[in-house]
Amino acid sequence: MDVERTTVTPAQDALGRRLHDLRISVTDKCNFRCPYCMPADRFHENYEFLKRSELLSFEEIVRIARAFAGLGVAKLRITGGEPLLRKGLADLVGMLRSIDGIEDVALTTNGVLLPEYAQMHANAGLQRITISLDSLDEEVFQVMSGGRGNVREVLDGIVAAEDAGLTPIKINAVIRRGVNDHTAIGLANHFYGSGHIVRFIEYMDVGNCNEWRKDEVVSSRELRDAIHAVHPLTPLDQNYAGEVAMRYAYEDGGGEVGFISSVTAPFCGGCTRARLSADGHVFTCLFASQGTGLRDAMRDGASDIELRDTIAGIWTQRTDRYSEERAGMTEAARTNHKVEMYHIGG
Ligand code: SF4
Repeated sequence: MDVERTTVTPAQDALGRRLHDLRISVTDKCNFRCPYCMPADRFHENYEFLKRSELLSFEEIVRIARAFAGLGVAKLRITGGEPLLRKGLADLVGMLRSIDGIEDVALTTNGVLLPEYAQMHANAGLQRITISLDSLDEEVFQVMSGGRGNVREVLDGIVAAEDAGLTPIKINAVIRRGVNDHTAIGLANHFYGSGHIVRFIEYMDVGNCNEWRKDEVVSSRELRDAIHAVHPLTPLDQNYAGEVAMRYAYEDGGGEVGFISSVTAPFCGGCTRARLSADGHVFTCLFASQGTGLRDAMRDGASDIELRDTIAGIWTQRTDRYSEERAGMTEAARTNHKVEMYHIGG
């Protein structure tokens, strides 16, 4: 694998946070309609998603990723919408792996297309995979996925990822009170002893579509205590600075479980993540209101150095810490227009 040499000038934002992770959305389309992200009534069958010409090409994505690598990014995560809907994605995985300075290429998916694509992406160099699975209860799953896919298909996707060697798998579950919280223990039990890591995510006010209410948040503490009562847990150290999940091990060796607590224990202080939308906008926070477009500048002939300088300018001015500020915000400020999560891949 030819590695192009790049000099790295680590960038720091206005709060001293380095730039280390880039989440790359490769499509705004999805085959699910999860109500907290892409509700079916709004994203109906005639909804106009980005046209092919509006999407960044793989070559353009690689140019941008290389510019980010030159500013200290070492970890890339491919997201969507549902990234496996993007044709030829395995080629992009290979291209991203060849960028100097990139140590890790991961993917987040809803899993149902993995039986067809897992091995191909592993062969192309994909290193890690995260699969979203909000419940094993079929009825609840249908509510959480907007009536798309089913539990069996996701479990088959997990088996396909295992067979392709993409292990351990992280299983992400968004927990919403009164919707799937009563099935969370079932998820923990199912993956207990499997080697895979379930991460329970506090329900967040992402985007503008989910009519988020604080009383629908199940705090990580509450969930952790419920699991601890069944499977005693002991805290684990972070794998690396800025890791979003609070890690716990089952005391009896049954593996690991994680909690992502953006609402009750925000982690903005260590946030090293930038996000790239499928049409080439850079966002510096999951809850940002707007991003900076790079696509047109590239298509108008911007050089790699100009690209890197633009990105450096964006990051060094960054002051985002929405989750830390949320509690003190007025409702008007909190519901101010935000980028949709499906547009930047969570
Ligand atoms: S709210 Fe924004 S700044 Fe805070 S952790 Fe999330 S993405 Fe990072």
